[in-house]
Amino acid sequence: MSRVYNFSAGPAVLPEEVLEEAANEMLDYQGTGMSVMEMSHRSPAFQQIIDDAEADLRELMNIPDNYKVLFLQGGASTQFSAIPMNLKKNGKAAYIVTGQWAKKAAQEAEKYLDVVRVASSEDKTFSYIPDCSDLDIPEDADYVYICENNTIYGTKYKTLPNTKGHILVSDVSSCFLSEPVDVSKYGIIYGGVQKNIGPAGMAIVIIREDLIPEELDKSVPTMLAYKTQANAGSLYNTPPCYTIYMCGKVFKWLKKMGGLDAMKERNEKKAKILYDFLDQSEMFKGTVVPEDRSLMNVPFVTGDEELDAKFVKEAKAAGFENLKGHRTVGGMRASIYNAMPIEGVEALVEFMKKFEEENK
Ligand SMILES: *Cc1c(COP(=O)(O)O)cnc(C)c1O
Repeated sequence: MSRVYNFSAGPAVLPEEVLEEAANEMLDYQGTGMSVMEMSHRSPAFQQIIDDAEADLRELMNIPDNYKVLFLQGGASTQFSAIPMNLKKNGKAAYIVTGQWAKKAAQEAEKYLDVVRVASSEDKTFSYIPDCSDLDIPEDADYVYICENNTIYGTKYKTLPNTKGHILVSDVSSCFLSEPVDVSKYGIIYGGVQKNIGPAGMAIVIIREDLIPEELDKSVPTMLAYKTQANAGSLYNTPPCYTIYMCGKVFKWLKKMGGLDAMKERNEKKAKILYDFLDQSEMFKGTVVPEDRSLMNVPFVTGDEELDAKFVKEAKAAGFENLKGHRTVGGMRASIYNAMPIEGVEALVEFMKKFEEENK
């Protein structure tokens, strides 16, 4: 067996010991004589898996009791529609556009309500987070929407926007569980799990209970009504059972690693190794303003497309996979999620130094 250092933005690297555990349980999950993939979602064994996953997530994130945790199909993008459908009251929402994912969310929301784009960083290719301390947020906005870590551009909010009393909705797909958060500051905090937690195809939605509407417009699909899912404990229909099981294992791994405070420390240390190198390199440059840099996604360029391509190719041959930047930005991007070991980042920097030396 040979494993590479996988810098993919998502689906992405998972902790090796979690994968090994899952492999060991593949044919016979804890004496049931079957794989979790083959198991009824109504069985006591699966109920235990989903209950444990929720309990461990609540413990990790310190989720207050008045918040529901939902495990939902359709990834993060399905929530781009579910959020406006469920939170629509006055029929208006404020969106802060800091990248492709916020942009897509705003475009989707426009099908259901009036979207007011209250700030954007598109003028500089989304390389920074706009000042959100005093935005012109419409009084009657039903919520303020952000994408907290911009996976493609590598920016991250270091302080949350001043919503002026409005409900904050945040997509945390690519920074989920990377550091502690104060859940009580959000109305909804949600993300697809395939970046930092588990296999693709699922979103975890953490929503303040009083925001779940009792009644919705008849045109809202049953599956997209939070009430349906909250009442059924995320088991209205067959959930992504195996993904929930894998996420549960990652939660246990995170607890074992010391929880989110420890992850933050580890992630800061990892990111610093890469950013420190970028800051002194004459060939490679980070593309984000230093104060808004993400700990999870690190885009960089040489300034020469041919050299970028050569780097990606040689890096791949040396066992560093998926370093090509997003098709809309070019250059390179190293995603260094929770499960990327510090050795992976150190080895990448060594490789970059060598490449710089050889290509002066
Ligand atoms: C990847 C990503 C999405 C889309 O996730 P899907 O599960 O593929 O729908 C949305 N938002 C952010 C921030 C992402 O990184």
